Amino acid sequence: MNIRLDLDIPLKYTADLCVVGAGPGGIAAAVTAARRGHHVLLVESSALPGGLSTASLVPMFMSFTDGEHFLCDGFGREIIYGLNASGRSEIDHEKLKLLYEKLLAESGAEVLYYSRLATVRKEDGRIAQAVFAGPSGLFAVEATQFIDGTGDGTLAVLAGSPFDLGTPEGGELMPASLLSLWTGYDYDKYLLGPAHNHRDPEMLRLLEEAYRKGELSQEDYHHTGIFPVTEVSAAANIGHVYQVDPTDEKALSDAVRHNRVLLGEYERFYRKYIPGFERARIIATGSVLGVRESRRVRGAYTLTLQDYLNRASFEDEIGRYNFPIDIHPSRGKAGIEAHKRQFASTHFAKGESYGIPYRILLPQNQTNLLTCGRCVSTERPVYASLRVIPACYITGQAAGLAASLALEHHISPNDISRTELRSELLKLGAFFH
Ligand SMILES: Cc1cc2nc3c(=O)[nH]c(=O)nc-3n(C[C@H](O)[C@H](O)[C@H](O)COP(=O)(O)OP(=O)(O)OC[C@H]3O[C@@H](n4cnc5c(N)ncnc54)[C@H](O)[C@@H]3O)c2cc1C
Repeated sequence: MNIRLDLDIPLKYTADLCVVGAGPGGIAAAVTAARRGHHVLLVESSALPGGLSTASLVPMFMSFTDGEHFLCDGFGREIIYGLNASGRSEIDHEKLKLLYEKLLAESGAEVLYYSRLATVRKEDGRIAQAVFAGPSGLFAVEATQFIDGTGDGTLAVLAGSPFDLGTPEGGELMPASLLSLWTGYDYDKYLLGPAHNHRDPEMLRLLEEAYRKGELSQEDYHHTGIFPVTEVSAAANIGHVYQVDPTDEKALSDAVRHNRVLLGEYERFYRKYIPGFERARIIATGSVLGVRESRRVRGAYTLTLQDYLNRASFEDEIGRYNFPIDIHPSRGKAGIEAHKRQFASTHFAKGESYGIPYRILLPQNQTNLLTCGRCVSTERPVYASLRVIPACYITGQAAGLAASLALEHHISPNDISRTELRSELLKLGAFFH
């Protein structure tokens, strides 16, 4: 049953550009556009910047380089070297939140937390207003241009763009994980044991034994490990929940509760079986579930597996990336073997990368909307490469710049000059062919 409401919704904010979602993609977009002097409003449902990179406790940045070229220059460089001068890849989440806040404040972008996108109003085919649920009810934001940085493509889909989710055959999804922060371990001892390598047969044997004894309630042999992120804490990417529909609040709620129970089991497992973890404790879990796979909004072009394998170049290229295809398997040992083979076989050699065309940021059926981050238009295997944080900085920066050019020329992002976009991106340090 549907209900119909006749509502007066206050128009509370106007902006040149409204970016929805303050994850790595949305922040890169907002900072880039605000630095060009545009009035940018960045609207976020939670109360912190960074999306999964902070709220989910993701342990580390994936690659910024291809071994020869720095692929994420501009915003990406400011983040990785802003966090620590040597450009180490681990993520100190509190430092990263502070850095995001600093870059946003210095850029002049206005940031609203506690505001979840609920719906949009279109007029003459363009998004006129976006409506958010805030602490005191619904309010509207009017803007000339919009960017979808929700990670889930929520803005684009509410505005009528088509999307794909999961495998084309049956909607199979990568598992989600509630990541966790641990302390009280001896990491040197851990590195000598089986747990740091999730393919170590001894680790697989221990997991199987614990499952047989009922100490672990779920059979899962894919443990990507625990990685130090500060002098006293390590972030753990362990525990999977399967087939979680990221667009359904009930499925997400059940999954987060289930994963929290699993983490209790893993804490006991590590203390009992893993050298160095005898006295370890979980001191925090992610404030949101780490959803690996969500909607891919169909764009003017879809980046294909063949493009990836061909290391393709494009005339409208906005950047290049190289992370292997990392599709987390759905349960079982067979899945792990297939994952291992795919990950290894799609590893690029030094200096190799694939092009990212601008058209994958242009959702179908829209005239004033861009996407960035993990919801851009890709085939599923390419999503499993382009979803990682450094790549989200590349697409975010390009989306922010493209929206700026659209504002400056009073045209749609669909119509901006690709030559001008690329020459402005070059000034920011972007790398492309
Ligand atoms: C378990 C897990 C482990 C990972 N490990 C790594 C890793 O080790 N290294 C790496 O580089 N990458 C890793 N990733 C991938 C990476 O973290 C994400 O893909 C990346 O953060 C995506 O960035 P994004 O900006 O597209 O979206 P997100 O990070 O998802 O940010 C989206 C933002 O939009 C907000 N939002 C969503 N809907 C709304 C709405 N309706 N209204 C307002 N705001 C909204 C969200 O609150 C969030 O802040 C991992 C991902 C997961 C799930």
